[in-house]
Amino acid sequence: MEIKIQQVETSKIDSIDFNNLSFGKVFTDHMLVCSYSNGEWESPEIIPYGPMTFEPSARVFHYGQAVFEGMKAYKDDQGDIFLFRPDESIKRLNISSERMAIPALPEEIFNEGLKKLLKIDTAWIKKGEGNSLYIRPFVIATEPAISASPSNDYKFIVICSPAQSYYAGEVRVVVADKFSRAASGGVGYAKAAGNYASQFYPTNLVQNEGYQQIIWTDANTHEYMEEAGTMNIFFRIGDKLITAPISDRILDGITRKSIIQLAKDSGIEVEVRGIKVSELKEAAKQGELKEIFGSGTAAVVNPIKGFKHKDFEYEIPEIASTYASFFKEKLINIQYNNSEDTYGWRVKI
Ligand SMILES: *Cc1c(COP(=O)(O)O)cnc(C)c1O
Repeated sequence: MEIKIQQVETSKIDSIDFNNLSFGKVFTDHMLVCSYSNGEWESPEIIPYGPMTFEPSARVFHYGQAVFEGMKAYKDDQGDIFLFRPDESIKRLNISSERMAIPALPEEIFNEGLKKLLKIDTAWIKKGEGNSLYIRPFVIATEPAISASPSNDYKFIVICSPAQSYYAGEVRVVVADKFSRAASGGVGYAKAAGNYASQFYPTNLVQNEGYQQIIWTDANTHEYMEEAGTMNIFFRIGDKLITAPISDRILDGITRKSIIQLAKDSGIEVEVRGIKVSELKEAAKQGELKEIFGSGTAAVVNPIKGFKHKDFEYEIPEIASTYASFFKEKLINIQYNNSEDTYGWRVKI
């Protein structure tokens, strides 16, 4: 496969303060762009990162026909670059695309394009734990036409943003009892752009009350807890780890499935089943609720300090050794090539 490359004349890397990066605001010198038209994906190109032009009638602006992925690249002390389970990302991109009537992207374009892009922008991936390059692949509908039907033209684009270790501060959540993120038969399992915009308003409301995120519950009954903000969610009750099963309302997180595997192989009892808000409150009252944490590529594992549901509030007591930090360390060690990877999750570029 041929990838045309147009390099920047001068890199902007020297103007970037890598010690003060805010997440997702600085982008590397290059991006990958691949167009779809006349029923096929064309050859990808690597070009300087910068503004692109689209007609105001481009379908993505009107109907949100767009999907994305989120990945990270890591660099070890030798300067080798690694991705974490990239095969899962391209699979999931195409699962999301299918739901949004977007044509599947050939895996070769994703894999080879990403590899070339990371090599060209390698200086942007800093060594050292916590440093990484956040990778954002996405597909948008570009055909200039505003009838409500699938686009005939698309662009697959990959942009990259240097990131430092992500600390969200202390997180307290509200368990949803009115708003919903996803419904059965809907698009909750897809990384579809619109899923995120629709969370902003309810999240703003809880932030005004001093909470940071929402634990989303099932849309029918609001009894079962499904996701936390844009992360999957785990509960530790006693020494048991519990997380909701994947469904068409829940995103099949790569971090989530990695944690389940690590738990099983570390002798931690893990139950993948529906978990009710009433069970959570009861466990809290009994002093059995030890941890709640979210999982996702950006933060890896994000501990949740407390929750509120209707007029019930609970602050989780601190414990000495948490599952959250256990899994975070295990995953980070695999990602940064600091430990053996018996799973084949780490892929060298
Ligand atoms: C991306 C995402 C996750 C986490 O998935 P990872 O593959 O672990 O990064 C969880 N929930 C939602 C809604 C997401 O969009």
